[in-house]
Amino acid sequence: MVSKKNAPHFGHENPHTHSQSVEAAVTGPSKATAETILASKGHDVIAVRPTDSIHRVTEVMKEHGIGSVVVKDQNGHMVGILTERDIVRGFADEPDNTFDETAGDLMTTKVVTASPDTPLLELLHRMTEGRFRHIPVLDGDHIAGMISIGDVVKFRLRELEYETLKLKQMIVG
Ligand code: AMP
Repeated sequence: MVSKKNAPHFGHENPHTHSQSVEAAVTGPSKATAETILASKGHDVIAVRPTDSIHRVTEVMKEHGIGSVVVKDQNGHMVGILTERDIVRGFADEPDNTFDETAGDLMTTKVVTASPDTPLLELLHRMTEGRFRHIPVLDGDHIAGMISIGDVVKFRLRELEYETLKLKQMIVG
C-alpha cells in the first residue's frame, strides 16, 4: 500500500476508490485545482500598501522568502501586484535611483486572478500566456491565497511521483 506519509495532501478527502484512483493515475491529467494546491501549500497572502517604499517591499520579500506581494489599499482591497521583476525593471530604468519610489509606483494594476476551482492546467496557461509567474486566488472578494509557477510544478511533481508509486504497486501486486 502507498503509505499516508508518501501521499500528496490533496486538500479535501480523496473521494475515489482505489481502482478509480489507479484508473485516474493511468489515464488522466491532474484533477487538481487552485484550491487543492492552496490546501497543500497554505493560504497565506503577504500584502503591502501602495505607499510602502520599495526598500520595505524588498525587506518583506526577503523575510518571507517570496518573489511577489499583493498591494492592498487601506480598505483591504487589492489594487495591484508587485514582483521582483518590477523591482529589477525599476533599477534598470533608473540606474542612479536611490529608490524613493513606492509599491504603488511599480506595481501592475491589471491583475489576472484565478478562483479556487480553476484547474491546475488553466493556471499554467494563464501564467504562460500572461508571461508572469504568480496568480492571486480570489474567493469572491476575499484573496484565498497566492500561487506561483513553482508551487504548481512542485505540486504536479508530487502527484506524478505518487501516481508512479501506485502504478508500480499495481504491477508488483
Ligand atoms: P512575475 O513573472 O510573476 O515576476 O511577473 C512578471 C510581471 O508580470 C511583473 O510586471 C508583475 O507585476 C506582473 N504580474 C505578475 N503576476 C501577475 C498577475 N497575476 N496578473 C498580472 N500581472 C502580473
